[in-house]
Amino acid sequence: QAKRLGVPLSEVLGGRLRNSLPVLWTLASGDTEKDIAEARKMIELKRHNTFKLKIGSRPLQHDVDHVIAIKKALGADISVRVDVNRAWSELECIQGIQQLQDGGIDLIEQPCAIQNTEALARLTQRFDVAIMADEALTGPDSAYRIAKSHGADVFAVKIEQSGGLIEACEVAKVAGLAGIDLYGGTMLEGPVGSMASAHAFATFETLAFGTELFGPLLLTEEILKEPLRYENFELHLPTAPGLGIEIDEDKIEKLRR
Ligand SMILES: [Mg+2]
Repeated sequence: QAKRLGVPLSEVLGGRLRNSLPVLWTLASGDTEKDIAEARKMIELKRHNTFKLKIGSRPLQHDVDHVIAIKKALGADISVRVDVNRAWSELECIQGIQQLQDGGIDLIEQPCAIQNTEALARLTQRFDVAIMADEALTGPDSAYRIAKSHGADVFAVKIEQSGGLIEACEVAKVAGLAGIDLYGGTMLEGPVGSMASAHAFATFETLAFGTELFGPLLLTEEILKEPLRYENFELHLPTAPGLGIEIDEDKIEKLRR
């Protein structure tokens, strides 16, 4: 162990650590043309090339048409996903997911109720498009339960929802053992929580569906001495000790109330 001190962690782990993580963007205006324009701007800036739409609060067909129109406008190379946030019954899921799958959408997040893990499993067996568990996951125990019945194609791993950094890595481990793909979720943390998540996700062996670590981009005030680096569609991990970030204490003092 002592011999290894001073060696970068990535080498200790056999070079398996990621240096950067893909980060998607959520389109939330609800207006099809506005969302398309926003997505095109993000692609041009090289900030995001994968987009997620939160749906479920409007009538099903309205939501589905909105998402498919955006996907059509952005083209085959751009990934468009949906998060239904538990809004649909199983029958609505069957109607909605079939159309989304046919329209080229590539990920369906938590389409039905949290407790109805059997429905999520049935949808996973029924459709080719990837079905992802989000709120149904509350740590390693639920991850194991869902994995046992292959109740999802993908797990959205969140550090708080899992119960901590170690537990989030355990959820990822369970997924890996069960052949379930991974996605790095967020609870819209600022730069500190997002970096903690990023370091955990950087250890995942596979991260087929990228991450949504865009929380810091929503803040209007920078609280780090050196801002996080979002470049070429990815969040780049700092190499300094700890989380690798430094809080601007003067700025925090100014924001204190
Ligand atoms: Mg979600």
